[in-house]
Amino acid sequence: MGEKLIRYSPWLIHFNTGACNGCDIEVLAALTPFFDPERMGVKLAPNPRHADIMVVTGAVTKKAASRLKRLYEQMPSPKYVIAVGACAISGGVFAGSYSTVSGADKVVPVDMYVPGCPPKPEAILDGIVKLLLKVGRGG
Ligand code: SF4
Repeated sequence: MGEKLIRYSPWLIHFNTGACNGCDIEVLAALTPFFDPERMGVKLAPNPRHADIMVVTGAVTKKAASRLKRLYEQMPSPKYVIAVGACAISGGVFAGSYSTVSGADKVVPVDMYVPGCPPKPEAILDGIVKLLLKVGRGG
């Protein structure tokens, strides 16, 4: 309470780096009017050049890793990354496999982790709010 939120409305891009679609469905649910993220100014950006936060879902496959890095580089600073779900955090059940890099933070800096397989929409929104509070405090 009384903590300072980031001052602008953060726009998101969502990148599936190899998810089973479980986490993606929850991210999409979190963005619906039912959960109403626009009350916090949170909405999808049309492209990475307009985005403040990248939401990553899925085990990062070696094929997707270069795309993930490229998308991140296209975002203007300041920019933040949220890893949603066990796969994006550590590779999940695919950790250590020949085709993955076992976590988005092996490719781009991750500022917030939302655990679960998949996490609920409420947990994803909670992760976004915690990131905004962290950023608002200059953390
Ligand atoms: S964390 Fe679970 S739900 Fe999400 S992409 Fe991985 S296996 Fe699918």
